[in-house]
Amino acid sequence: MRPEAGGGSVAIPRHWYNVLADFPELHEPYIDPTTGVEIDADSLSDLFAPDLVSQELDRTTRLHPIPEEVLERYAKWRPTPLVRAAALERRLGTRCRIFYKYEGSSPIGSHKANSGVAQAFYSKRGGIKRVYAETGAGQWGSAISMGAGFFGLDCDVFMVGNSYDSKPSRRILMETFGSHVHRNPTDMTEVGRTMREEDPDSLGSLGAAIAEALEATRSDPTAAYALGSAFNFVCMHQTVVGQELKSQLEALGVEPDMLISCIGGGSSFAGLVFPFLDQVGPGRGRLELIATESNAVPKVTRGDFAYDYGDTAGLTPLIRMYTLGHGFRPPGIHSGGLRYHGLASPVSKLINLGLGRGMAFTQLEVFRATVLFAQSEGLVPAPEAAHSIAAVCDIATRHRDEEKTIVFCLTGHGFFDLSAYDTYNRGEMSDSSTPDAEIAEALADLPKAPASTRRSAVPTPVARNGDAPGSPPRADAFEVWQGRHFEPADDLVRPDVPPGAPRTAATVTAAVVDLREHRVVSERVVEAGCVRGPGDLLVDRGAIVTPLAETEAARRGRRFVTDRA
Ligand SMILES: *Cc1c(COP(=O)(O)O)cnc(C)c1O
Repeated sequence: MRPEAGGGSVAIPRHWYNVLADFPELHEPYIDPTTGVEIDADSLSDLFAPDLVSQELDRTTRLHPIPEEVLERYAKWRPTPLVRAAALERRLGTRCRIFYKYEGSSPIGSHKANSGVAQAFYSKRGGIKRVYAETGAGQWGSAISMGAGFFGLDCDVFMVGNSYDSKPSRRILMETFGSHVHRNPTDMTEVGRTMREEDPDSLGSLGAAIAEALEATRSDPTAAYALGSAFNFVCMHQTVVGQELKSQLEALGVEPDMLISCIGGGSSFAGLVFPFLDQVGPGRGRLELIATESNAVPKVTRGDFAYDYGDTAGLTPLIRMYTLGHGFRPPGIHSGGLRYHGLASPVSKLINLGLGRGMAFTQLEVFRATVLFAQSEGLVPAPEAAHSIAAVCDIATRHRDEEKTIVFCLTGHGFFDLSAYDTYNRGEMSDSSTPDAEIAEALADLPKAPASTRRSAVPTPVARNGDAPGSPPRADAFEVWQGRHFEPADDLVRPDVPPGAPRTAATVTAAVVDLREHRVVSERVVEAGCVRGPGDLLVDRGAIVTPLAETEAARRGRRFVTDRA
């Protein structure tokens, strides 16, 4: 067994896995907001090719054969490598084994290629001439453009104006595949024209780009809409990732303890974990599933599990999911792929049932971790995937003396996101946040669940952080770890500082040595800190404290404390 290996030796899966056939409890019907009844194939067929509509609604076929034409394209980059991050393990001083499933090796640099090829193929087979899509950061636009190029479809991409201006490389990539890329808002649609009238300098938004793509599709009978995440068929196409991973781990003789992926609409998480669900939950196994998100778009950790629209204009059916409200406007973080208010319904349900949980990270925590990863592994991750790396660093440090096996999906590379790294490297990146009031305001605007569903719905307590409904709230594992290793920092806050006031170095007592600017607290940092002052060592929630640093602190009689604010 070569623990570093594991790429090319396994076969490419020949089927997509439909999780709803095995786990009907993950199904929540899509509801037509006007009638209050479950939608049927007819209401989707003006948007998608017939094969995709039947995949979306299928709850009985476990395995869908992948067409030869799609397999042939997958074979250009699949199977994707499974790599052991041994250098990162050493950097963290952990006995945990860390593996990443690298989807950045697709031609367009992310897992989105898996569905882009499939959707283009079925659209072509369904007699469609043109596909319309939206793209934020450009990943989905690139994937569907590549697919459309493969199968000879015309492709029009509405690209959020802001990204269009700031990310010309993604636009050029799409155009090279033969797509037409339009700066949202355009004058091609009613939605776009209205926006431009109201604000001639509009920078667009993902919700508006979706609305433009939907309107364009509805007005062209030979066209279909292509979407990059959240729907069942997208999640299903991504299950090639988890199935392949299963074979690769078996070939290595390795059993995972944790699977981790980041969540935009949830398709990479679904693709990674659905094939492993038989090992999760009471009576099935102890595999842990962790969905990582931005603290600025915290649908799982701070949102509601409720019926909501999938787009900002309210054009989709009502979908039961974790949501921040369709009116929520995500702040401009450097992870375009995670700036989505909702989450695929079966993924949401899985978390709501307590089979997985969410972890949220701030932008600085994420970049600290991803730069450590880059310096250890030589690979620059997409900022979206970096949320999982923040979780991995956190968990592998927390369990540093246990031999846990952690596998995360490295959903894409970051070669088109280097300007974000530049901002971070220059020390110019601001940290991310979203005030509770903004979330509360967007959630107050959730559509009312139609009467029929409200009556039939079993009242399910909203689970936060993956607490099983009905069970007493479980202490967050991070809090438990903190309790073990660190004293709460609350007693460090000066009594004259009003509760809720921002905590700065000035609001904590002088008996604290502030080490919060360090992403990895090594013994050198401890040493330098101890020279600066006599107090406790204040470290950031996201900081990585190495074992040697702990020994050094103990030797010098210092305690680490962390600021929970
Ligand atoms: C789009 C994207 C995501 C988020 O989308 P999911 O559907 O939740 O997987 C994550 N990483 C990358 C690289 C992406 O392009």
